Amino acid sequence: MKLLSREQIENLSKFKSESFLTTSLYLDTDKSRMTKKEITLSVKNLLRSGRAQLDLIEMSKEKKESISQDLDKIGLFCSKRLSSYNFAGLAIFSCNRENFWELFSLPSPPRNRIIFDQNSYVRPLSAILDEHHRIFALTLDRREAKLYEIFMGEILLLENLIEDVPSKVKEGGWKGYESKRIERHIATHLHEHFKKIARTTFDLFKKNQFDWLFLGCRERYCSDFEPLLHPYLKSRLKGWLKAMPSDSPTTVLKESLGLEKKLKKQEEDEIVHRLISELERGGLAISGLKRTLRSLNKGEVQTLITTRNFSKPGRICPRCRFLFVDELRCPSCQKRTEPLVDVIDEAVEAAMEKNCQAKHIMPPSKLDRYGKIGAFLRYKT
Ligand SMILES: [Zn+2]
Repeated sequence: MKLLSREQIENLSKFKSESFLTTSLYLDTDKSRMTKKEITLSVKNLLRSGRAQLDLIEMSKEKKESISQDLDKIGLFCSKRLSSYNFAGLAIFSCNRENFWELFSLPSPPRNRIIFDQNSYVRPLSAILDEHHRIFALTLDRREAKLYEIFMGEILLLENLIEDVPSKVKEGGWKGYESKRIERHIATHLHEHFKKIARTTFDLFKKNQFDWLFLGCRERYCSDFEPLLHPYLKSRLKGWLKAMPSDSPTTVLKESLGLEKKLKKQEEDEIVHRLISELERGGLAISGLKRTLRSLNKGEVQTLITTRNFSKPGRICPRCRFLFVDELRCPSCQKRTEPLVDVIDEAVEAAMEKNCQAKHIMPPSKLDRYGKIGAFLRYKT
């Protein structure tokens, strides 16, 4: 299925087998950058490294067999289906002995990796989801308006309004005062056309909700149209496209994705900047892996901020689910902690379970100097 919502990730996280490990595979399948042959080769390499990992892990024969079957199944799927697969990324989660198999098509390429763990490795999914906003792209001119929804790299035409407003007074036949009157008439007509577009946009917003609005129109219409937008929409207007209603959806999509990427970078810079100033004035923020995990365990975290692809092994208390960098015993219940392949992945999952936001920052950023991880807190104890 296509990755579209946080709910899907939460559902995926719910699966946990008491007796067997789950295999998670992430594959970059971006055919705009790689040939089919290269993709096939990376599958082979990934599966080979998976088998090598498996040889080194100490566990029961049965557990190993289940993982080995996961690898066979994934290999078979890739050899059959990848040549006609048209998404930039693929994620597969499998626990063969429990008949668990989930597949996600991804709109942007993940880092190639294979992981065996207690449950599905979902952090890259959450990062990809976090990368994408629900966008409305509106292109308009005096003849028509097109409203598109853009999400997870796909574009959908929601509405096409056509209203042929004449562009100018016809040559000849009009005396000066009459042509003035006609011009006024045209201006009113155009104003009504714009008002209708603004109203339709707001109606669609109420139905579909979106984060950002992008507008594409001639410069001379911007100042006429923008004031007609509802305040909710004005606050979501994030940028201008170099696209017109006559442009193809592909062009509008390409322009919009470019703008989204730029805005995303600005947003990330802004959040890191806000975190650092909060840290420096000793406010409701913390940084560094150890302190972040401690705050997360205590339920103080409001927004978790991590560097994309930053990973570190760690430990978890099987009883309290508390996360640690290196505690061998849980300070709270004294139970022996268990090792984790990637404690940051668990931290993101824990944050999501506690209804906190998780923000993933593309490196390099100033967060690197603060231990690559931090959080805004609800309160501080
Ligand atoms: Zn404990």
